Amino acid sequence: MVCQRALFFLVLFLPAWAAQASPVAIALHGGAGTLTREAITPDQEQAYLQFLDAAVEMGHTRLEAGVSGSQVVREIIRLMEDSPLFNAGYGAVFNWDGRHELDASIMLGESRASGAVAGVARVKNPIEAAYAVMQHSPHVLLSGSGADAFAAAQGLELVENQYFSTPERARALEQYRAGPQPPENAKLGTVGVVVLDGKGNLAAGTSTGGMTGKRWGRIGDSPLIGAGTYAENSSCAVSATGHGEFFIRWQVASDICARVKYQKVYLQAAATHVIHAELGAAGGEGGVVAVDPRGNVAMVFNTAGMYRASINGSGEKIVAIFGDDDTKLEGETDGG
Ligand code: ASP
Repeated sequence: MVCQRALFFLVLFLPAWAAQASPVAIALHGGAGTLTREAITPDQEQAYLQFLDAAVEMGHTRLEAGVSGSQVVREIIRLMEDSPLFNAGYGAVFNWDGRHELDASIMLGESRASGAVAGVARVKNPIEAAYAVMQHSPHVLLSGSGADAFAAAQGLELVENQYFSTPERARALEQYRAGPQPPENAKLGTVGVVVLDGKGNLAAGTSTGGMTGKRWGRIGDSPLIGAGTYAENSSCAVSATGHGEFFIRWQVASDICARVKYQKVYLQAAATHVIHAELGAAGGEGGVVAVDPRGNVAMVFNTAGMYRASINGSGEKIVAIFGDDDTKLEGETDGG
């Protein structure tokens, strides 16, 4: 009898307890910059919002189904790399020479396992090349033609460099070359995903074409662990977007997690401090998406907007582009 009653209570409360004990959460960005409402048409705005909404829902559903964080990060980034809306994969920006050089990285919070590629020109989905470096090489970061060759040897799909080209990005390069001011969209569209999976593991990934008109084999923050991507289970997972030269020197992603870990501050407070008080004060433009082990999400930027979407550990969803689109920017979103 006692045993039956215990079973009854177990069946009644287990689902709620399980949901509470292992929240899942996801946040993604599609780049930050000086983007204003006037600069995009209502149709474009809708296209971005719909894409972001579908992507965050898909990632969340996969996490709820028990799929690992490392897989969900790659699946969602692959979707974004294949979309011309973003500066990653197809639709990547042009460098000064009219070609594309792509950077990507991934990091797992459980083990600090990391993989990255920089300046690849042939891999269709650079995030998969980064993952392959992590899984199948003794290294963390491979670059240039060597990284392309490694990806080919791993059986990843290669494409001609022109595959990544779109008319919009070609126009942006023309404007950039004409100077003196870089065009509005010169540094927009890097993509990144951070997740907390059902096993309590954090993961982060970032993929980009870099900045329009980049020269001399320039590498940004996106493939650099600690600068553009970071994940560590006891603190947080971060993916960054913005002016890479600042994000590298300020070690933005790992600095946010270090503040969470050692100063014991909330994720939102740590991200806000680094993006506004440290980076912003120095003139560095951009933003981050971040998640912590309780499922709290922070999406912070010091630019006019950042394409972003999230579902935190409590199931609260945000899908937004501009700075005034949501009111949670300064407040802690409690998911745990
Ligand atoms: N952070 C990227 C870079 O500097 C660009 C971006 O996020 O838009 O390469």
